[in-house]
Amino acid sequence: MKKVALIIGHSAKSPGATNKTYGTSEFEFNGPLAHSVAEKLILEGYEPIIIYRDCSYSALPGKVNQTEADIAVSFHCNAFNEKSNGSETLYYKRSSKGFLLASCIQEQVVKCLGLKDRGLKPCVASHKGKAGDRGGLLLQKTSMPCVIVEPFFIDSDASLELANHKFEELSEAYTKGIVNYLRG
Ligand SMILES: [Zn+2]
Repeated sequence: MKKVALIIGHSAKSPGATNKTYGTSEFEFNGPLAHSVAEKLILEGYEPIIIYRDCSYSALPGKVNQTEADIAVSFHCNAFNEKSNGSETLYYKRSSKGFLLASCIQEQVVKCLGLKDRGLKPCVASHKGKAGDRGGLLLQKTSMPCVIVEPFFIDSDASLELANHKFEELSEAYTKGIVNYLRG
């Protein structure tokens, strides 16, 4: 049975970007989402492994590698100026399988939310992003194809409202993207 690591970005102590109006953080949004994807993957015949970041960021790739999962998907959200919108997926620049996994998920997420398609972003370990959490290190140091999905900007009220409204569909979109990749 193929294993899928589902990595919930950030942690309870350091919850990532947070929407000011609703007080919802990346960690709060993505925990339930990852669990919902996990349930759907089981129904599709896969073994999900939920991973929390209860270690330093630099220790995270090792923790993911220990699971010996076939692929890894990290759940994040984007954030910028409360007005930007769109979906993007990050992958390790030199991984063609990572690129393929990213395209499968990005396609479904864009179709689901209907936000601007910001495309696939190639990253290397030195890429830290604005908040230092846009995991180039995770993408480069993981031994399986690994992607970071940022389906929407959580600091945008309209985007968060849309994502909450379409929560179930978004969970289906992640699942479909993952399944499409695994079934080739
Ligand atoms: Zn994040």
